[in-house]
Amino acid sequence: MTAIVETNNELSQYLDAERSAGKKIGFVPTMGALHEGHLSLIRMAKRQNDIVVVSIFINPTQFNDPEDYRNYPRTREADKAYLEAEGVAIAFMPDENEMYPEGKGYLTDFDAGYVANVLEGEFRPGHFDGVATIVKKLLDAVEPHRAYFGQKDYQQLLVIRQLVKTYDLPVEIVSGPIVRESDGLALSSRNILLTAKERSIVPAIYQTLLYYKAALEKKFKPETYQAEGLAYLKSYPDFNVEYFTIRNAYTLEEVNANDRPKAVVLLVALSIGKVRLIDNMVAYPYS
Ligand code: AMP
Repeated sequence: MTAIVETNNELSQYLDAERSAGKKIGFVPTMGALHEGHLSLIRMAKRQNDIVVVSIFINPTQFNDPEDYRNYPRTREADKAYLEAEGVAIAFMPDENEMYPEGKGYLTDFDAGYVANVLEGEFRPGHFDGVATIVKKLLDAVEPHRAYFGQKDYQQLLVIRQLVKTYDLPVEIVSGPIVRESDGLALSSRNILLTAKERSIVPAIYQTLLYYKAALEKKFKPETYQAEGLAYLKSYPDFNVEYFTIRNAYTLEEVNANDRPKAVVLLVALSIGKVRLIDNMVAYPYS
């Protein structure tokens, strides 16, 4: 049975006993509308820990667009059924008051620097402040041994690693690979908001990433490919492309043909209709 827990106090009651019994706690934070991407992280957490905690909280402070927050899918009952089926010990489903008892403020003494300021940081001002704030609160509440995050949110992962370093949090951050549909579309809770026509076009994102990953690994011409890939995505009238970019995989700095980075990451953000999608792929030009 998955215990549904709504308060920090109740959470401690469950977890303190487990912790003193030497049990390893794995934690998967989510915003719900669970899909195979989330489940892959949950399964990884189950394999590596004694008990698994999954949080479901649609964090208001990380939404820079109020309409996105309003439209965000809410599928509480289906989510509970998934967690039950996966054998998750605890579903932490707090409300807004529980997570923000003093109102919706941000962590004020944290700055992830460059990795938080570019790309998503530019196009979604305040987003990573909200993410860092809620992840810190959740890690403080759960105190897990390991916490799991998907590579789907590539920049988020870098921000969270920085958060853990800054506060010296005693948790291991584990990342999981991107889970995709058979046509390459990265699973996302927002995908159900796509119309049938939009859904038929969006695999072009994956195709573009795949094509330029292969190209980079053959010949390292990041500036050329970045311009080409951007132009290609923009050739779809339905895509409102925010960026297609090729960056150093560790620092997110721009790269040029004279660099020899071991890994680069290709990152895309675009919207189609009412839905904003992000995706990425890592390439290894010199390994
Ligand atoms: P979210 O509910 O969108 O906040 O996502 C919760 C966690 O699941 C985050 O660490 C995401 O990176 C991860 N995640 C979301 N979609 C995928 C996916 N398609 N593959 C792997 N992980 C994912």
